[in-house]
Amino acid sequence: MSARSQHRTDGPVEGLNLARSLRDALASGVLVVNARELIVSATHEAERLLHLPTGKTLPAPLSLLPVPLQNVVREALAGKTTITCDQLTLALNDKHSRNFHVTVQPVQRDAGSLDVVVVLSDVTRFAQLEQGIIRLDRLATLGTLSADMAHEIKNALVPVKTFVDLLLEKHHDEELAGIVSREMRRLDTIMRQMLRFGAKERSTHGPVCLHAVLEHSLRMVQHQLAGKFISLHRAFNATPDAVQGNDHQLEQVFVNLLLNAVEASGQNGSLTVATDLVAAASPRSGPPQVRITVADTGMGIAPENLDRLFEPFFTTKHHGTGLGLPITRRIVHEHQGHITVHSEPNKGTTFSVLLPAGDQAL
Ligand code: ADP
Ligand code: MG
Repeated sequence: MSARSQHRTDGPVEGLNLARSLRDALASGVLVVNARELIVSATHEAERLLHLPTGKTLPAPLSLLPVPLQNVVREALAGKTTITCDQLTLALNDKHSRNFHVTVQPVQRDAGSLDVVVVLSDVTRFAQLEQGIIRLDRLATLGTLSADMAHEIKNALVPVKTFVDLLLEKHHDEELAGIVSREMRRLDTIMRQMLRFGAKERSTHGPVCLHAVLEHSLRMVQHQLAGKFISLHRAFNATPDAVQGNDHQLEQVFVNLLLNAVEASGQNGSLTVATDLVAAASPRSGPPQVRITVADTGMGIAPENLDRLFEPFFTTKHHGTGLGLPITRRIVHEHQGHITVHSEPNKGTTFSVLLPAGDQAL
């Protein structure tokens, strides 16, 4: 068959079919609204994007569209000009709003009346990605800056501490001495954490028994648990409990999570530390994972804070540093793992860490 005969599609009916196929294949949604504010044409994609009732008989009133889009259409009809909105936020149902790139272009019809063609595409994901990149960039700068700053402040702290110690020797004041040394220790902790956060650490990884690491981490926080009469429940069900990693770093992960849980709990709270093996969805999706959960019955986390927990310096505590969770997440990622959080205000919080399971023979 010749190339020519293959492309013989220029009759009026075929032309119409082609126009329809093209219209339906468009990645953007297209609507046509006439001067009487009636939607006279809508592609499937437009119906899908705007959550319009499918197969609605046309023409349909403009009021079917979200109000901000109605306003842009009216503006274009009245001014007979093309309007482009890079990001128009449209509330599509009670909860979700999405961002759209919208172009509304007037088109003169043969009879002299004016229609507008609305072309819209959902750019919500691009907007989110853009936000993410801006945030990452900010954090990268902050990371470098904070490591430099931490060095400087740590150096300056040495003479300050010496002079304060000397002053306190001369003027005995137990209360002042207590406050100064506590605050100095706090500053020192912050600086160490900041340095650690900024550092690209290359630690040695080897076989680790998770339950031993968890036991050790629990010993580190036993005073804090006892101080608040928090009951501890262990459900160590991962057999084997082997992972590949660095035990000191993993201990830091669990101590951070345990301390946060204690700090969020009131007197007589309850803390559950559990492990189990999670099978991979299919043999091709990698080795099984060990899941470690730290669940408290504390104050929980406000929904608006959930997205910010892992940001450096985000803290809701008077004396917090906001570095525990960013460091925790970094270590988990360095172990090819994953950390998630589930929380209900006034009920409690569960952090889950997933790590690739190690060699069974450990
Ligand atoms: P810090 O403990 O110094 O505040 P983190 O990075 O460890 O810093 O934690 C950041 C914030 O996350 C805390 O200030 C707190 O608001 C919240 N958070 C973390 N863990 C919990 C938890 N188990 N329960 C409630 N809030 C928590
Ligand atoms: Mg903390």
